[in-house]
Amino acid sequence: MNILVANLGSTSFKFRLFRFDGADHASLLAKGGYERVTDYGKAIDDCLGELQAAGHVRSAADLHGVGFKTVLGRDLTGCVPADEKVIAALDGFREIAPAHNPPYALGIQRFREKLPGVPLVALFETAFYQWVPEASSRYAVPQTWYDAGVRRYGFHGASHKFAAERSAELLGRADVVQRVQQLYQSGPTPLAAGAKALRVISCHLGGSSSVTGIRDGVAIGTSMGLSPQSGLPQNNRVGDLDSAAVPFVMKTLGLSLAEAERQMTKESGLLGLSGVGNDLRDVRAAAQQGNARAQLALDVFVQSTRHWIGAFLVELGGCDALVFTAGIGENNPDLRAAICANLSDLGLVLDAAKNNAVRGTEGEISAATSRVKVFVIPANEELVVARETVRCITAKY
Ligand code: AMP
Repeated sequence: MNILVANLGSTSFKFRLFRFDGADHASLLAKGGYERVTDYGKAIDDCLGELQAAGHVRSAADLHGVGFKTVLGRDLTGCVPADEKVIAALDGFREIAPAHNPPYALGIQRFREKLPGVPLVALFETAFYQWVPEASSRYAVPQTWYDAGVRRYGFHGASHKFAAERSAELLGRADVVQRVQQLYQSGPTPLAAGAKALRVISCHLGGSSSVTGIRDGVAIGTSMGLSPQSGLPQNNRVGDLDSAAVPFVMKTLGLSLAEAERQMTKESGLLGLSGVGNDLRDVRAAAQQGNARAQLALDVFVQSTRHWIGAFLVELGGCDALVFTAGIGENNPDLRAAICANLSDLGLVLDAAKNNAVRGTEGEISAATSRVKVFVIPANEELVVARETVRCITAKY
């Protein structure tokens, strides 16, 4: 089965082609992409032309599905056929995800026109949070706001679901692995009576970051809320912020709503705090040279991550595994050490040598005495999208 994963930006189109032998055995056949895209139809033609020239896909008939990592849909989530309902759901929330929803809506439309008969699948980033208890997803806003869609949705679902599956595998919990794999087709299936609970806290720390609490493979809450402008400080986007801040700066600094929004989405996060840049490598290098604002940015990031880990430690009643994933989580032993500092009373102790040795690869970094296992699990979101696309096609088409 050949599955194309399409990653659509406002002016970019990136793709990866996977070949599946069985539901989970995939090999990456090709990857590529185009910048400054103005016509998705042409980009699709170019992509198919490239795959044809490389001998991977002779025609559209050799393509068995296309997967899209859609972000946020109004009244729609999960892993579903990318049809007109998906396009309408993306359009319905274009105000909340303006950088992501319009290109996906347009891109899916063009794929439908260009590749009729090829199954298209949308995996929403919110899909993993379908079973979060309502008490953890509601904001204390008037009913009319809730009816308009103001609630916690959560993001990075593909990544956190992969962390749930892989950590269960590393802990020898085949029952939970199976539960995670079937989640979008069957919902949370019952575990055997008396099965021990598996409590995982997953930290996706990258250009965009979030922490998710997971019980028996199913999310029970996450740090991100209505939009990806929430939770931890992001690269250049604000994380959690008191809602009073917006009217306050509009009145006192004379900012228009559009300018306040621009500053919260372009000039905040690690960039706003440090004044140096939005890439953690640059912030870290500046901090090492004595830049106090850069050091503060790192400290705020660590503090915020610990805050959310703490929230899920209580919510889960403990933790069996802590997972670090994505660019920052995979590559920064010093940040991982700072996040895990002084938690020995809670049963979490890092092995300093193992932690220093694991960069960009999978590994266990907890001490032998640590009750909580700590894993680094590299993110591979395109593969997750491809796998879920295969499962959706197999179940639905
Ligand atoms: P992501 O969004 O997962 O691609 O992560 C991007 C973030 O990860 C950026 O802030 C990078 O600074 C950080 N990052 C990526 N690779 C490395 C690396 N090798 N060492 C340190 N930080 C890294």
